[in-house]
Amino acid sequence: MTKIEQRLHFIQRRIQHAAQQCERDTGSITLLAVSKKQPTSRILQAYQAGLTHFGESYVQESTPKINALADHPLTWHFIGPIQSNKTHIIAQHFDWVHCVQRIKIAQRLNEQRPLQLPPLKLCIQINISNEANKAGIPQNALLELAQQIKRFPRLQLRGLMAIPQKLDNPQQQRIAFEQLRSLMHNLNQQNFQLDTLSMGMTNDLEAAIIEGATIVRVGTGLFGPRNETEP
Ligand SMILES: *Cc1c(COP(=O)(O)O)cnc(C)c1O
Repeated sequence: MTKIEQRLHFIQRRIQHAAQQCERDTGSITLLAVSKKQPTSRILQAYQAGLTHFGESYVQESTPKINALADHPLTWHFIGPIQSNKTHIIAQHFDWVHCVQRIKIAQRLNEQRPLQLPPLKLCIQINISNEANKAGIPQNALLELAQQIKRFPRLQLRGLMAIPQKLDNPQQQRIAFEQLRSLMHNLNQQNFQLDTLSMGMTNDLEAAIIEGATIVRVGTGLFGPRNETEP
């Protein structure tokens, strides 16, 4: 077994265990492998171990990898901060964007999404723990942004994403995830059809799954420390 296979089995067991605790089907949870700072060769190993969803945070570093792996049936998620001068690259290369927080960015992604591709799937990022200097919009700005994004034909608003404050206690971790779930529920009460909660990372994926995560974003848990040099 390769190291990635071993780590993947361990993460899969954690996901299964959390899903059992809340009687969820593991098929409703997508494991997004966060491959930022990882070379193409390790993404290929992860694909051979069974992973197909990959998350990148830096536009510049991601496009050579996406191009090199173009013959493989991979789904690419952009999960980093978005600069407006890079939106065209994201619109051309990615299937999902998890971290939209400004109407101007959404507008550019809508205009720049190539017509031969399906609409870009999108999550709005919420600053769920109200931290200073943390990406994401405040909860009270969500409805307006969601309504604006809904009008863009080349975007498909799918749900919400958050990176809560880092806490070690699983019980406390659940509070922020529960809030994100209830924000999505509120939008769905107002005629949205959202089905995606992108929440939970290596350290808190159990709490996220128990509160309804549909995409967990796992980096170090699968690949090890980000600048590790082992094969
Ligand atoms: C890096 C990153 C992750 C993965 O974090 P790990 O702790 O390595 O699992 C998840 N989400 C986002 C947005 C990230 O930037």
